[in-house]
Amino acid sequence: MVSCLKVILVGVDGATSWIIEELLFGLSGFNRLAKDGILCNLKTTLPPLSSCAWASIYTGVKPSRHGMFDFVGVEHDYNVRGLGFVNGLKFPVFWSLLGKFGFKSVVVNPPMVYPAFKVNGVLVSGWPSPRVSVYPDRFRRVLKEVGYKIDVDGLEGRFRKDPDATVDDLVETAKTRGEACLRLAEEVGDWNLLFPVFTVCDRIQHFALGRKEWKKWVLKAYRVVDEFIQQALNLLKEEEGLLFVVSDHGFQPIRKSFLINSWLVKTGFAKLRYSRFRSLIREYIVNNINLRTIYWGASNRRLATLVGKIGSLFLGGAPLHGRFSVNDFILRKTLAFASGTISPTTFIWINDERFKQFAVEKSKKSDIREKIVDGLFKVKDQSGIAIVRDVVEVENLYTGNGKGDMVSPDLMVVANDGYTIDPWYVSSGYVVNPSVYRHGDHSFEGVFAALGPSLNDMKNFNTCGVVDIAPTILSLFKIPIPSWMSGEPLTRINSHSEANLKNRLKLKAKIVEKKLYGC
Ligand SMILES: [Zn+2]
Repeated sequence: MVSCLKVILVGVDGATSWIIEELLFGLSGFNRLAKDGILCNLKTTLPPLSSCAWASIYTGVKPSRHGMFDFVGVEHDYNVRGLGFVNGLKFPVFWSLLGKFGFKSVVVNPPMVYPAFKVNGVLVSGWPSPRVSVYPDRFRRVLKEVGYKIDVDGLEGRFRKDPDATVDDLVETAKTRGEACLRLAEEVGDWNLLFPVFTVCDRIQHFALGRKEWKKWVLKAYRVVDEFIQQALNLLKEEEGLLFVVSDHGFQPIRKSFLINSWLVKTGFAKLRYSRFRSLIREYIVNNINLRTIYWGASNRRLATLVGKIGSLFLGGAPLHGRFSVNDFILRKTLAFASGTISPTTFIWINDERFKQFAVEKSKKSDIREKIVDGLFKVKDQSGIAIVRDVVEVENLYTGNGKGDMVSPDLMVVANDGYTIDPWYVSSGYVVNPSVYRHGDHSFEGVFAALGPSLNDMKNFNTCGVVDIAPTILSLFKIPIPSWMSGEPLTRINSHSEANLKNRLKLKAKIVEKKLYGC
């Protein structure tokens, strides 16, 4: 009976199929998925960032349409501002749609969801929520009882000081998250969808991958998720149900970090505000004394604030955490700058008329863009290997979600495997060793795994992507897939719903959709 269908969707930030395969001997849950079900790659979004990819998993919509292209964007006065949470997107998340059709969900820690909004079931907000937010609030009691935490903070400093203790803390946090999810499921009782998201693999892989002893730490991360998978499979034993594992992006070891703003300075596209002398002091402080680590690692807030003040005094106006800011450039002499999150992709803005202190006239823009693209393809590391794989023009990527002052980036720079791009630091060189917390960074292939009754031949599954998850979940519950979704249901998952899926409704008429989905 379809109405009793139970789906457990285990979200694992940063889980990667090649890593799981290497560790499979110690993971009996994943082992079962690989043996009796499916375990394959899942294509992520461009850029392969959690904000962007989770938003696509929840909505089934590509980043170019949902607009969450990074964690932060740049406003016309160069202010770097957060793009907000998925709550602000104009596309509904799949568990809201399930709710509209009467299906009950228990969703715990979905990244980029804050505050918890009204759902049919329970929703606990996810990283990077400033505090735990729960709907309905009466379930907060359960979280208190299991000692639920959103995440572990100050990771870079903590990993530097004591990696083993930090790993254990992350694992413990993940364990309580699994517990919270199962307890909530028990209290809700007649749930249809369980959807917890674990962040432990991402956090540990950032530090551990690329180091000799990576397996001992990374295995601990996957083990705690694996324990949850085993418990979830037990839960489904008596029911007609399916278990899925999805990740937002994959992971890879990083050899070198490309300081893209440094490169823009070196090649004359950008000009630093502070002198060479000051930048040498800054570099010394950032590289050796490492204010950032003290800042992030300090348990005493007063010490952190003091360090922040010293940082802004010496670091040429660079903000608290010692990071580079766009305002460190002489803007009238800066043709382009990079901003965003450290990742194998990053964004470049041309400082044109959209900005307050622009330096590029409209007529010169395409010429400058071309020169930057040419230059980027010539960037090599110390062994002569090209760092940049692709430069994509993304002028209209940011379609805006009613946040009027944001300026869309012009170029997306994509690195080759083994490299990450860092827009946060400016140094004398531009190809440097990765920082403590970026020995591993995101890659473009995450993981998709499934186990359940009526799983058909799954050989074609290597083409699935994060945008296919929401339509797949809807189709399992026989809910027509809305026309705004970019993804396709993974049709061969469940034979008894196949006929239904073939008749996928492409509802073009907005009125019909409004009636059906209430949005
Ligand atoms: Zn990450």
